[in-house]
Amino acid sequence: MSTLEELKTKIKEQLPDLDLVIGWKQGFDPLHASAHFMRTEADVDKLILNPLCVQNLAAYLPGLKDKRVGLVAKECDTRSIGELLQESLIDRDRIVVFSVKCPGGVDLVKVKDKVGEISRVKSVDFQNGRITITTPEESHNLELEEVLPDKCLSMRYEEPVLSDFRFAGPGQETICREQEDADLNELEGMGLDERFAYWKHHLERCVRCYACRNACPMCVCKDHCIAETRDPHWLTQETDIRQKWMFQLIHAMHLAGRCTECGECERACPMDIPILSLRKKLNREIKELFAYTSGLDPEARPPLMTFQPEEANIKEREW
Ligand code: SF4
Ligand code: SF4
Repeated sequence: MSTLEELKTKIKEQLPDLDLVIGWKQGFDPLHASAHFMRTEADVDKLILNPLCVQNLAAYLPGLKDKRVGLVAKECDTRSIGELLQESLIDRDRIVVFSVKCPGGVDLVKVKDKVGEISRVKSVDFQNGRITITTPEESHNLELEEVLPDKCLSMRYEEPVLSDFRFAGPGQETICREQEDADLNELEGMGLDERFAYWKHHLERCVRCYACRNACPMCVCKDHCIAETRDPHWLTQETDIRQKWMFQLIHAMHLAGRCTECGECERACPMDIPILSLRKKLNREIKELFAYTSGLDPEARPPLMTFQPEEANIKEREW
């Protein structure tokens, strides 16, 4: 039996005890998957599992806190579940995690760079670590590694943080790699002026659509977001760079020590702005200060939710 069939069988077995199970289904074309909310066995039959299933479905959990929810999750997504548990934003006994071994995802921005127009894709096929994308005009056969999302290049966690049922994955071996965050190292290597020019260049494209915020599993106060509230009125609706910069800094600061580096913010951005590196930078600072990595221990208390008169790595009284 294939992994997908095993997964479907287990979900059908658990479904009577759950309100719904969230996985992925075919999206609006063969190159896109979308979130799939399964309540019946017929829904489960539509479940898919392949490298296009990139969405971090943990983002739906806080909004379904009063339901018993099953969630199909890749290893890196379980970090978000761990952090949500740490912050008491969800209840462990209301969640069933079907963890799947992730082979690495597909970054559609990289696909577009390689094949050009991707709005009229007729079929997509995965074979032997390659993806074949067929349009009405031609077929493109790419190594999956060529279109791996950057976040998979610095993937560090091969095992789920938590899991109730574990599945092998959709066939091929993982091609995620464990390496340093090259983008962050490059940014840290820049001088202040160069770094400011870098962000000015990128943030000028921001349209303040807030897709980055809405896709984030840890951004849980969307209905009261200071980006939109009138009282207090932190940000205007003007589109100048200062307002965009302020929004990004607030978002990054609110995610400090909470961001699980799932990359959904950057993936959701329609303007391809490399905003994940801002979150990674704050995570690096938190790691240095508090020796803490978000989401890895569902029992641990996040450092910014605690108070200690003397922090080991903050020498407040020495200056
Ligand atoms: S800020 Fe981005 S990378 Fe971090 S948890 Fe939110 S969506 Fe994921
Ligand atoms: S998703 Fe991109 S364009 Fe939209 S607010 Fe976020 S950074 Fe700006």
